[in-house]
Amino acid sequence: MDKERKLIIAGNWKCNKTVAEALDLVTGLKRELAAVKEVDVVVCPPFTALESVSRAILDSNIRLGAQNFGENGYGAFTGEIAAGMLKEFSVGYVILGHSERRQYQKENDALIAKKAAAAHAANLVPIVCVGETLLEREAGITNQVVETQVRGSLAGLSPEQVERTVLAYEPVWAIGTGKTATSAQAQEVHAFIRGVLTALHGEAVAKRVRIQYGGSVKANNARELLGQPDIDGALVGGAALEVRSFADIIKNSI
Ligand code: PEP
Repeated sequence: MDKERKLIIAGNWKCNKTVAEALDLVTGLKRELAAVKEVDVVVCPPFTALESVSRAILDSNIRLGAQNFGENGYGAFTGEIAAGMLKEFSVGYVILGHSERRQYQKENDALIAKKAAAAHAANLVPIVCVGETLLEREAGITNQVVETQVRGSLAGLSPEQVERTVLAYEPVWAIGTGKTATSAQAQEVHAFIRGVLTALHGEAVAKRVRIQYGGSVKANNARELLGQPDIDGALVGGAALEVRSFADIIKNSI
């Protein structure tokens, strides 16, 4: 697949996998994906498996991401993980503003913007998630919701930082439900997001930002979704938990 931007496919393992299971998974992925150069492949294990996975992928083309971090750095912040701690394990990416964190941890755009700025300051690439709920889609306010999230979550970032940020459009109604947005529905929102980025920072910046789609991406729908002009990769949940399904998504996208 010949695209303007290099595809980036990330697996969000969420709160799954013991260290032994994580090692099994990543060892299989290394074997399956050794020849893949066309796609940036990222795995995002839970914090507890970062060290072992980091060692296991040292000699591979797989990169490491975290699922969150504490924006205040080191100090008296019980329960938090600082960016510097992630860097010890060569973490390069961090998922921010996932709808599950927006829902369960009440994360909002202002906090996500603070985390995005802290991520860039630490040389971590933030993967910033946005997306509407089913109610919002049915109310016809998808664009409004997504625009507010994009503007709010990227607030205060420089054009250079925005350019290095990865966005993930994840309609909440498609996450873990088996319901995927059609490629036309997804492309429409991706093009809209690129328009918002153009309004914010101009066309040259907007053209360089990679926008992933997320929401029940599987091996059998990846090619069609990632074939859309403004879809530059995928953020994968359920199907990233097994070697076969995640590797096939990547192979089918090339
Ligand atoms: C996700 O959690 O980011 C996600 C897209 O999950 P799933 O692929 O399971 O829908």
